[in-house]
Amino acid sequence: MSPEIPAERRSLWRVTSRNRTAFETLQSKVEVDLVVVGGGICGLSTALHAAEANLSVAVLEAEVVAWGASGRNAGFVVPNFAKADPDQIIAQLGSDSGEALVQFAAGSADLVFRLVERHRINCHAKQSGWLQPAHSPGAFERVKSRVAQWQRHRRPATLLSGTDLETTAGLHGYVGGWLDPSGGVLNPVEYAYGLAAAAAGKGAKIFEDSQVRSITRQGDRWRLECLRGAVVAERVVLATNAYSGDLLPPLSQTYFPVRVFQMATRPLPQAIRETLLPADQCASDTRRNLFTLRFDADNRLISGGMCVFPVGADERVPAAIRQRLARHLGMRNLPEIEFSWSGTAAVQPNFLPRLVNMAPGVLAAFACNGRGVAMTTMMGRFLSQWASKTAPFPPVPDTPPEAIPFHRFMKYAPNVLLPWSMVRDYFES
Ligand SMILES: Cc1cc2nc3c(=O)[nH]c(=O)nc-3n(C[C@H](O)[C@H](O)[C@H](O)COP(=O)(O)OP(=O)(O)OC[C@H]3O[C@@H](n4cnc5c(N)ncnc54)[C@H](O)[C@@H]3O)c2cc1C
Repeated sequence: MSPEIPAERRSLWRVTSRNRTAFETLQSKVEVDLVVVGGGICGLSTALHAAEANLSVAVLEAEVVAWGASGRNAGFVVPNFAKADPDQIIAQLGSDSGEALVQFAAGSADLVFRLVERHRINCHAKQSGWLQPAHSPGAFERVKSRVAQWQRHRRPATLLSGTDLETTAGLHGYVGGWLDPSGGVLNPVEYAYGLAAAAAGKGAKIFEDSQVRSITRQGDRWRLECLRGAVVAERVVLATNAYSGDLLPPLSQTYFPVRVFQMATRPLPQAIRETLLPADQCASDTRRNLFTLRFDADNRLISGGMCVFPVGADERVPAAIRQRLARHLGMRNLPEIEFSWSGTAAVQPNFLPRLVNMAPGVLAAFACNGRGVAMTTMMGRFLSQWASKTAPFPPVPDTPPEAIPFHRFMKYAPNVLLPWSMVRDYFES
């Protein structure tokens, strides 16, 4: 097993999660229909759905289950896109492909909560709704259009006034907002543990501490080599997200790796808990410099953010996130930080899910863009169908393995542009 994860990389979830099953290191040669690289939500959802469809499947995880972004996120289950709205997607992809992608996102949160229920995953999951408060009149106009669009796609999107947000969520100072009641919250590490256990229960072979070092063609199959063993399979799913390293160039140049910080305070008094997000909703507002908040099951308040300069960020950024939280909520006595951690999200230039056709029978899946808990779960379902050859290609744009132009410089764009986003948020509010 790999060395203990250093404290600064431990998320609240990893420390507080129960029900972990440890999996063995790959030490032999295994032959399966499908091999999945990466034991995050995407890889595990793929494995679970594939095993349920009677495929033989192996998951190879370099570290431990949920080591990547899946174990470090905020646990928001959000069934929509980070930037684009349905009309824009349909205009971009055409009516059939666009509608298919819209429905892909729309049903993603329902799928998460259904899986939790069906496999009895103990992960403090609650389909309590996702809120998007609008920080300015201009943003509220965009929200109104967004709500109308999702309603046209038969989604239960609900427009809220500023007063609604105050009374139902205890959120003050917003012009209005909207609620998608199919969203919600969970503990993402326990969710991943549950997916892994369910997949293993259906016959999937899961290996930890089993980093894939090479992928080569062997006849009409693929051979994935780890330090002490190998897997041979007809189909390969790369679910390595922003942690792909040098595995298969130019995979790591097909996305922007964006480091995101999270912090959780010490538990808040129950009296506050009863007025702020009392139904356990989660909220991400419309600011370009996103402001997010939710509680965990023990009343810790969780929020996140990004940084411009990486130097000293581990100390500086969580403290800044806490200050921002206290300022927005008007809470002078916000409890101290108990946990802070960070992770890397893989972001596409258009913020949409994407498949990269690495080679015949080898797909790399990116459904992250900060919305990966729900989206990668849904991606896994479609990838399993692709692997079993029972369905058309997943309804997600696919591209050849081409690097993003000027990736070496462009990958810093999300961080470098952050101050500009903050200035725009300031002048808009
Ligand atoms: C701080 C943060 C907060 C976020 N908050 C939210 C949120 O609240 N809601 C939401 O929906 N999304 C959120 N996201 C995004 C979400 O976490 C991701 O989209 C999702 O977890 C991606 O899952 P994944 O399975 O694709 O990848 P990951 O969970 O990143 O898993 C990739 C795995 O691949 C493994 N791997 C890599 N290379 C190899 C190799 N060669 N061999 C074997 N294994 C390998 C890694 O060890 C890793 O475990 C957040 C992201 C971050 C970073």
